[in-house]
Amino acid sequence: MKFGNHIFKLIFIFSYCLLCSQSLFAGEVKFEIVRLLKKVDSKYLKTPGEEISQGRSERYLSETFQCSSKDEVEKLLKEWSGGELDNAQKKIVEMVGYGKDKLTTDLMTLGKKNKGKDDRDIIVKIYDSSLVENELGKKFFMKEFWPSSSGDTIKFPIAYVSSVGGNPSKILVHELSHAIDNNRRESGSYGPDGDHSPSEITMPRSAFVEGWAEYNTLYAFPGKDGDASKGFETVLNAGVRIESSKGKYDKYSAEKVTGEEILSTEGVNALILHKISAEFGRKKLEKAFLDSNSKKTTIGDFLSSFVKLYPDSLKKVFNILNKETFGILSDSKITEILGDGKTVETFLKNRKQPAFSRNASEKILVSISEDRNTIKTIMEKPQPISDSDKDTLQKAKEQLAKKMADYETCVSGIIELMQNKEALKEYSPSRDAELRSYEVSASGNIKKQKKFMDSVDNFLLENEKNNLPISKIDVDDSNINTTQPEGQEQPVEGTSEKGLFGN
Ligand SMILES: [Zn+2]
Repeated sequence: MKFGNHIFKLIFIFSYCLLCSQSLFAGEVKFEIVRLLKKVDSKYLKTPGEEISQGRSERYLSETFQCSSKDEVEKLLKEWSGGELDNAQKKIVEMVGYGKDKLTTDLMTLGKKNKGKDDRDIIVKIYDSSLVENELGKKFFMKEFWPSSSGDTIKFPIAYVSSVGGNPSKILVHELSHAIDNNRRESGSYGPDGDHSPSEITMPRSAFVEGWAEYNTLYAFPGKDGDASKGFETVLNAGVRIESSKGKYDKYSAEKVTGEEILSTEGVNALILHKISAEFGRKKLEKAFLDSNSKKTTIGDFLSSFVKLYPDSLKKVFNILNKETFGILSDSKITEILGDGKTVETFLKNRKQPAFSRNASEKILVSISEDRNTIKTIMEKPQPISDSDKDTLQKAKEQLAKKMADYETCVSGIIELMQNKEALKEYSPSRDAELRSYEVSASGNIKKQKKFMDSVDNFLLENEKNNLPISKIDVDDSNINTTQPEGQEQPVEGTSEKGLFGN
């Protein structure tokens, strides 16, 4: 993950590496807490024994503590906060515990093979900004030391967890995946705002770099129902995004972009890797990753390696690639990736246009999200809403209800076709499975929209009763919460998408 443009010159701290060079376990994740003591200006010359940490915009006098266990981290943080840990600090302690988990150990082994360095440790620098926060605020430090990976170092600000929330262990896996990857993303590939998210069309290598990191997180944290990829599917089914000018995104349904563009979307890369891993197993995926990983790897290179290593997988890989690119990846791109042999030729010849074109329902979904945005914009106004706003809200609500009805009709049409086995005859079992999974995500979507409508009704009712503003609406894949404004607190900036998927 990168936040904006940055050039890091890494300065490694070798003092303890010498002490630890006898370690039996070569290649570990190690943790340090960097406590920022005081902001200093750019001309400040440190005296012997002093240490300086460079943020994105400022320099700080700092002190570094090496911690070999979560207990040590807990002890330090407790000492600094006067006994009690807040939620963010507790999560950081958990993350350090997680850093010794099997998956991170496995990733380190993979990185060792990939980079050919036996004793390569990854240092996670956890930034504690509690002493300097008063002046500039937590959000400032969240950006100043934004989670990122560079060479053998991962940066992680505690202020990120206090400001954004989420599970830092997921971000650790994400950043660790970058640290063991030889790939380099194209410069400027995240667009004018230097930011990226699962549904943004970027560039092929960048999409693979981030997709690889996101896949590892899906693998490490499968969620309650054993498959965390549903969130990605919902986001992507609602459309992919193109950044037209700095920070301004336009959403497109799959039929409005090319298959190649879809393949340059990180969420799509993550889903392809996730499906390959679920179908053929993590070990096979790792082997193909190692075989194809270079400074210039794309998902196409990875898949080429995979089918070369495992020729029997060709049909299933073809289906995964075709499905995740919404059936619109060009024949020439597919043959470039999977080869131009007779088998692929036959698959292509028999390739159907996307069954029952999901596009119709996707199109409705995209316009549903436009109505939701209108509604949200009005509801997020800091003042009690005016009569004309109430009118617009009411109208947008009616429109949304109508589109929802269309969407339900569309989805039930698909379900009906599925139940009619005759109609399904010409489709393979995998097509059948695809439609079933669509049915699951569609019913989730319907539930989500209904919940949203309920929250609008509640809002109108409350507003009618008390003429009270509601300042913040959180919408993620499972919940929609409206909250009353609290004191002077402003809503956390950024989209829920970023919050969901780390960086
Ligand atoms: Zn990343």
